[in-house]
Amino acid sequence: MLIINNLHASVEDKEILRGVNLKVNAGEVHAIMGPNGAGKSTLASVLAGKEKLTVTEGEVSFKGANLLDMSIEARAAAGLFLGFQYPVEIPGVSMAQFLRTAINEQRKRRGEEPISAGAFLKLMREKAEIVELGDRLINRSVNEGFSGGEKKRNEIFQMAMLAPSLAVLDETDSGLDIDALRVVATGVQKLKSADNATIVITHYKRLLDYIVPDFVHVLYKGRIIHTAGRELALELEEKGYDFLIKEYGNDE
Ligand code: ADP
Ligand code: MG
Ligand code: MG
Repeated sequence: MLIINNLHASVEDKEILRGVNLKVNAGEVHAIMGPNGAGKSTLASVLAGKEKLTVTEGEVSFKGANLLDMSIEARAAAGLFLGFQYPVEIPGVSMAQFLRTAINEQRKRRGEEPISAGAFLKLMREKAEIVELGDRLINRSVNEGFSGGEKKRNEIFQMAMLAPSLAVLDETDSGLDIDALRVVATGVQKLKSADNATIVITHYKRLLDYIVPDFVHVLYKGRIIHTAGRELALELEEKGYDFLIKEYGNDE
């Protein structure tokens, strides 16, 4: 699904990613953890295609295609979902209108017919139930006046509706309560299938009490310094990052 090979990326001439390697197969859930400033959000931004970043070395292949050559829209149409890629607030546009447009844009790019009103409604009801999202939120303007938890719910709802092959969720919000964490986790677990994959970026070890990742990676100073199973999250909870940095993090 996704192969990242020796990825180096810079922001304003400062090298942030310094040789990231990662392989994600269909059916897998990966967690990327690491101390603040490690480059986690930068990695997500490179996958999203944000312009501020310059890739100086390395390759990213998504379903066999060169991701770094694709426009943001082409990435979405190919089945990549970035949790934060959609506008924060869109006054006057309901979630339903917004998502129907997004879905049809992706279908068009794939050479498919637009979704019918009936099929869209059915899909929306089905997916709203998964994320426990009421009609009230779906009919309100996108994210306008939403609480942190509601935005989170909304993000997972968008993911459910767009049914991506690969979802990358950067859980950067500091104010997330247990309820919002649970929504993210439940959504990820319920939407998991043999055909899709998820990368959850988090500094909340708590989130991994709810999501069961197949792999946990630790990013430190722009490199993945260690990879293990979900037990690593528990170990990090107990010991912090220092023991890993001492063991693996000193190869400047
Ligand atoms: P994390 O998500 O792991 O906390 P980030 O990817 O946000 O880390 O940041 C990694 C490093 O890149 C930090 O040192 C940060 O200061 C720097 N950085 C991130 N974005 C920018 C930017 N737009 N301009 C300059 N430096 C940035
Ligand atoms: Mg940060
Ligand atoms: Mg971050």
